[in-house]
Amino acid sequence: MNKKTISDVELSWLAGRTVVVRADLNVPIENGRVGDDQRIRASLPSLTFLCDEGAKVVLLSHLGRPGGEPVPELSLRPVAERLDELTTAPVRFVPEVRGPEAVAAVSETPEGGIVLLENTRFDAGETANDEDLARSWAELGELFVNDAFGAAHRAHASTAGLARAMRARGHDAVAGLLMARELRYLEGLLRGPERPFLAIIGGAKISTKIGVISTLLPRVDRLLIGGAMANTFFRALGLDTGASLVEEDAVDVAGELIEQGGERMVLPVDCVVAPEVSVDAPHRTVDREAVVGEDKIVDIGLRTRDRFAEMIGGASTVFWNGPMGVFEMEPFAAGTIAVAEAVAEACDHGALGVVGGGDSASAAQRAGVAERLTHVSTGGGAALELIAGKPLPGVDSLSDHAS
Ligand code: ADP
Ligand code: MG
Repeated sequence: MNKKTISDVELSWLAGRTVVVRADLNVPIENGRVGDDQRIRASLPSLTFLCDEGAKVVLLSHLGRPGGEPVPELSLRPVAERLDELTTAPVRFVPEVRGPEAVAAVSETPEGGIVLLENTRFDAGETANDEDLARSWAELGELFVNDAFGAAHRAHASTAGLARAMRARGHDAVAGLLMARELRYLEGLLRGPERPFLAIIGGAKISTKIGVISTLLPRVDRLLIGGAMANTFFRALGLDTGASLVEEDAVDVAGELIEQGGERMVLPVDCVVAPEVSVDAPHRTVDREAVVGEDKIVDIGLRTRDRFAEMIGGASTVFWNGPMGVFEMEPFAAGTIAVAEAVAEACDHGALGVVGGGDSASAAQRAGVAERLTHVSTGGGAALELIAGKPLPGVDSLSDHAS
């Protein structure tokens, strides 16, 4: 990566400085308390690093979609409380996005302390990438650290806008430790991955992932397809998909991808079908040629699972995005769990395994294999946009290396 990261900052420079950090603290809030705190934990390395070096941190994040006005249920206050429990640095919460109270809190905070401002999206200027709002944050510090990989695909005031405003003041805008790690692994997949390189793409809709499949197809040795999107490929092969979810508009594209991929493109050979997508529906496994009538495809079949697992086992680099079936329902989770386990096992034997996508990350958690994987991306949409070769304004706006 030719962008500056936090590791390029002179350590001795940091003491006594005020650093504005954009993190992705967009966590679920349940009854006024933080639910899954993964994203807060993932932001800790950068925060700890800065605080330990004696910097003062002004922390920014969005939470949910308040639509440009204060929504009490989407306040970051519970996040501040959780963050305070997780770090030794003192954490102060300011119930304001910008303004005199924020400025005063920053000047009162001791070195090594954190000031978390209110949800950036309480201000309509955030999603509008308002220059004035970005400048008001830039004026609070002398360095901007963007660690919010999950928000990198959007040009908002607290991401791209703030980076520009900070640089316009003659200061640097750098990637945080989490952001740098995400970029290292995800960009690594596109730049000389160790072969064989295998990708598994599943999930609900092919239309949202055509970009990802098109970028990967010429680069991989194998591309395994599962999930509901496989149905659209089946249709392109002229197969009956019964009452399964199919994207009629994408059947032609699926046919082109099959042609383009040739031997490298691997589709399921059998599937689990049920008359209803519900936990107690009777289900059976059939060959893909035998799907008919009321059948809804809900998972990959056993033969496909074994076939996929064997191919994954032979790869040196694996990228996985998208569940193989309706994994949220226990009877239809077996295909997804089998893939998660195969990727983890490949990692145990030295392969590099990267998982992207929000649902895939939670599937890896549910399968209990997350710790064995090389990297589980925290940025759902952003990871897919990076792989699809789309620009990431949150990254593009950072300072370049001098060379
Ligand atoms: P990710 O967030 O990892 O990118 P997606 O959002 O693309 O993944 O897809 C996840 C969703 O796809 C899950 O909610 C899952 O239930 C659904 N899904 C996967 N296979 C099927 C299927 N055969 N029929 C219906 N839904 C499916
Ligand atoms: Mg999803």
